[in-house]
Amino acid sequence: METKRWNIQRETEINKQFISEAAALLRAGETVAFPTETVYGLGADATNQLAVAKIFAAKGRPQDNPLIAHVANVEQFQQLVDNLPDYVDDLIAAFSPGPLTYVVESNGVCAENVTAGLSTIAVRIPDHPVALELLRACNFPVAGPSANISGKPSPTTADHVYEDLTGRIAGIVDGGPTGVGVESTVISCRENDVVILRPGGITKEQIEKIVPVTELRNEIVDKPASPGMKYKHYSPDVPLWLVDGDTEKIQKVIAEERGKGKKVALLARDAILELVEADVSLSLGSSLEDVANKLYDNLRKIKKSDADLMVSEVFPESGIGQAIMNRLKKAMTAYIS
Ligand code: AMP
Ligand code: MG
Repeated sequence: METKRWNIQRETEINKQFISEAAALLRAGETVAFPTETVYGLGADATNQLAVAKIFAAKGRPQDNPLIAHVANVEQFQQLVDNLPDYVDDLIAAFSPGPLTYVVESNGVCAENVTAGLSTIAVRIPDHPVALELLRACNFPVAGPSANISGKPSPTTADHVYEDLTGRIAGIVDGGPTGVGVESTVISCRENDVVILRPGGITKEQIEKIVPVTELRNEIVDKPASPGMKYKHYSPDVPLWLVDGDTEKIQKVIAEERGKGKKVALLARDAILELVEADVSLSLGSSLEDVANKLYDNLRKIKKSDADLMVSEVFPESGIGQAIMNRLKKAMTAYIS
C-alpha cells in the first residue's frame, strides 16, 4: 500500500485541501495517522468495524485492547455515550479539549472492536488544531491508538510514524512534533469518583480539584481494570536500568558497567548529564514537561547508537512525573536502588 504524506507543519493556516483528502480516506474506511497534543494517533472511522480492524492489523495490536474514540466537541462526545455522571460536565469544561480520556458507558454507536466487546467506551477530545480540523471534517468518531507498531515507543513525530507504519497505512498527516509527549490520562468514570487507569498529560492533582480520585496500582495485574494494563508498553532494544539515587550513585553504576567493557548511554536531564560521564548522552532537557516531551524520541534514538546498556535517572512521581515513571517502569529491565 502506498502511504500518502501531507505536510502541514509549517503552514500558518491549516491546509484545507490536505485535511479533506485525509478525511475522505478515513470516510472510505482507510487508516490515516494524525498529530495530537500527546502523540501521533492512527485513525479509522470508529463506526466502521472493517476500518477499525485495519488499525489492529497495521499495529499488530492485541484484539482485546480497546481503542480511544476521538471527537471534535462535546456534542459528538454525547452521541457515543449513555448515563454520564454529572461531574463529567465539569471535567470536560476544565480539561477538554486536552489529554484526558473518559471511560464511560457506551451506547453502542461505535463498532464492537473499538471497545473490544466491553460495555464501556473511552472517549477523548484532543487539543491539537490539526486533529480538531480533521475530526470536524470527518463528522464521525475516529478511533485512534498511538500510530506505532505495538511494543515500540509511541510516535511523537511524523518520522516516527513513517519508520513504523509506511506501506501499512493509507496516509500520514504531518503536523510537526507533538507537545505533551506522553499519552493521555485515562480515567474510569464511576458514579461518584474516578479511577486513574493510566496516568498521563492531566495529573491526579488537577482532577482531584473536581472529583474524588481513587488510585489503582499500576503493576501488570491478572485481572486488569483496563485491558491495556496487562501489556508491557515497550521493550527497548537495549536493556534499560533505572537508577534511584544521586549523581554519585548513577556514576558508580555506569563506571562499573563500563569497566566490564560495556558502552553505556545515560538518559537524564541536562543537570545530571553535565556531572556524569557516559558513552552516549540522551538529553531530556530540564523540566519534567521537557522529559515527557523528549522521552519517546530518545528511547527510539538508542537503537541508532551502539550502546549496550541505557541507564536512566528516576523522576519524582508528582505532576507529569507520574506518567513518566509509569512508562519508564513498563520499559525497564532493572530497578537499582
Ligand atoms: P492507547 O490507545 O494505546 O493509547 O491506549 C488506550 C488505553 O485505554 C489502553 O490502555 C486501553 O486498555 C484503555 N481503554 C480503552 N478503552 C477502555 C475501556 N472501555 N475500559 C477500560 N480501559 C480502556
Ligand atoms: Mg499506544
